[in-house]
Amino acid sequence: MKIKSVLGLLLAAVTAFSLTACASPAPAKTEPQGKVYFSYFDTVSYVYSYAGDTAEQFNDRSAAVSSILSDYHRLFDIYNEYTDTVNLCTVNKNAGGEPLKVDERLIEFLKYAKELAELTEGAMDITLGSVLNIWHIHREEASEDPSKASVPDIKELKKAFEHTGFELLEIDEANSTVRITDPKASLDVGALGKGYATEKAAQYLESIGAYGYVLNIGGNVRAIGTKPDGSKWVTAIRNPDMSAEDYAMKINISDLSCVTSGVYERFFTVNGRQYHHIIDRDTLFPADYFASLTVLTKDSGLADALSTALFCMSYEDGKAMAEKIGGVELIWIYPDGEIKYTDGVEDMIVKQ
Ligand code: ADP
Ligand code: MG
Repeated sequence: MKIKSVLGLLLAAVTAFSLTACASPAPAKTEPQGKVYFSYFDTVSYVYSYAGDTAEQFNDRSAAVSSILSDYHRLFDIYNEYTDTVNLCTVNKNAGGEPLKVDERLIEFLKYAKELAELTEGAMDITLGSVLNIWHIHREEASEDPSKASVPDIKELKKAFEHTGFELLEIDEANSTVRITDPKASLDVGALGKGYATEKAAQYLESIGAYGYVLNIGGNVRAIGTKPDGSKWVTAIRNPDMSAEDYAMKINISDLSCVTSGVYERFFTVNGRQYHHIIDRDTLFPADYFASLTVLTKDSGLADALSTALFCMSYEDGKAMAEKIGGVELIWIYPDGEIKYTDGVEDMIVKQ
């Protein structure tokens, strides 16, 4: 885990926390309570309750959230296997082999991931594993020894791209099995897994009648309800220009997810040029339309998928796709600092 990004997230969370506390002094019984977990999705997770749960209630509820995140973390992990679970690492290793029996939650997730690939016309596609893995290897090598940092070869990327696509993934719902038919293909759920798990945790909290909660799972923010007094929370959209300390925008949210994909999250540098981690399937190189893209919509899984997908398409195409889906607001930040947003964002902006 990168310390810089952890500090950034901490800062974001603390800011959101204190902003909330400053904006409307809460009565004593609604003192916010918070828990931090470091074990899931290679990032930091925060669970906050603002609705006056007793300490015991909050402990139980945050433990349940933690358990949901833990389960999905293990199921979605493509780098480690666990003795008691067949997860995506096992599925990837087994590519070209026999169908593997998997947890039903994995089947449900893979089906949803397929729908999202169709919805985004392939811009966010978890079957791009073979291509994404090449970028991952180059990023790891660069982090071990920056002087040896190198850019992947386009020929190698194009070859890998031949081993992608949902036709290579067999999902047998009746038998709860999956199989990747091509031994060179693999799944990478980095664009969707965290948001999907966040949404599952949020839906659990909703199902037990919890309200006044905010989950911040590695920057994937999901608000459940409003603050106890009915007002909204404030969340900050980072300025992608890392040299600047301030935030680009502050947004009011309730019953909503706020998810940002940005060039600053994970990258390596070759000859002074930065190569980030969101790959445009049309070029097989990092998408270069924007510095960051923020999605505001209720479902955190959809928000996560769209944050990656719409990062890889023009403003016009992204706007049209969001309109077609409905209930999705967007904020685009360009490399030169210019900000554009959809009409619905106007009323959410915290005016200073
Ligand atoms: P983060 O998880 O860092 O907040 P994203 O949600 O945008 O950011 O996910 C980026 C991750 O998704 C990458 O690290 C990679 O694993 C994967 N990814 C990158 N490009 C694509 C793409 N076009 N389709 C599907 N997954 C992608
Ligand atoms: Mg995403």
